[in-house]
Amino acid sequence: MKRIVNAESAIVVNNNAGAVFLCLNTLAKGREVVVSRGELVEIGGSFRIPDVMKNSGAFLREVGTTNKTHLHDYERAINENTALILKVHPSNFRIIGFTKETNIEELVPLGKKYGIPIMVDLGSGCFIDLKKYGLTHEPTVQEVLLKGADLVTFSGDKLLGGAQAGFIVGKAELVEKISKNPLMRALRVDKMTLAALEATLRLYVDEKRAIMKIPTLRMILEDPAHIKKRANKISRLLRKEGIPTKVKEDISMPGGGSLPEVGVKTYVVTIKPKIVPQELAKRLRLGEPPVIVRIKDDLIVLDARTIQEHEIPLLIKALRKAFHDDN
Ligand SMILES: *Cc1c(COP(=O)(O)O)cnc(C)c1O
Repeated sequence: MKRIVNAESAIVVNNNAGAVFLCLNTLAKGREVVVSRGELVEIGGSFRIPDVMKNSGAFLREVGTTNKTHLHDYERAINENTALILKVHPSNFRIIGFTKETNIEELVPLGKKYGIPIMVDLGSGCFIDLKKYGLTHEPTVQEVLLKGADLVTFSGDKLLGGAQAGFIVGKAELVEKISKNPLMRALRVDKMTLAALEATLRLYVDEKRAIMKIPTLRMILEDPAHIKKRANKISRLLRKEGIPTKVKEDISMPGGGSLPEVGVKTYVVTIKPKIVPQELAKRLRLGEPPVIVRIKDDLIVLDARTIQEHEIPLLIKALRKAFHDDN
């Protein structure tokens, strides 16, 4: 991990929620953490920055407004009790319009001036510049470290595409302090997770290999022409089973909520069910193997992007059974 993202030091815990908690508890318990009002995120599963802060024993010092937070807002909030400046990636929402976000490059000199570490909760651990592949830019861990962030936390199982885990990377002195927190033991990962993470991280040593071998990345970055070919194949096989289908261009929303507003062109197979679509979708979910579909305009929608070649025969079988089961 240190080698891939070029960090002084790195540790891994159960998940990113644990990583953020451990950083705050170690470095800011009983002290203040400055956060922009535009970044007080709720991730879901009740992970809310203000609540995590409270439970860690740190005091939240909100600055700026929902849409605009300036450098001077941060500077004015700093006092002798300030332990950290925290930036949080607004993972699942975007603030658009009349906005101002103070970026890491601006915060780093401020942190240096007052001797306060800059921590960044990146959410998705992205190691690959997605812009190179035609997607919108997602800040990578390497880039945030290069800009001078002292600590970066991120998930192992979002864009990274690995096992559930949370990483804390950055300045050796801070990471070492965090690793000595007695709560580290309660948040540590087990051997199976470590083995799985190691396998994923090894793939990242070679970016091309990572994209080929890590399903999350492969699916997000697959060429639409390939997806179209697969959609046509699935459609043809379903028609042979007497299931009426169409292939249409559509949009995939990758990231499981972690890349809002980022749609990528895809091809879907739509099916017109004989029964109410919700009922067919339920049958498919309860089938063996379970198939999870989308419903749009009363049609069942299968995104060919997330169907792997070897799954096609199983999918056809599951659909044949669910579609023609008339009782
Ligand atoms: C997802 C996310 C978390 C929580 O990460 P988990 O690994 O799911 O615990 C924390 N912060 C941000 C910004 C996130 O996007």
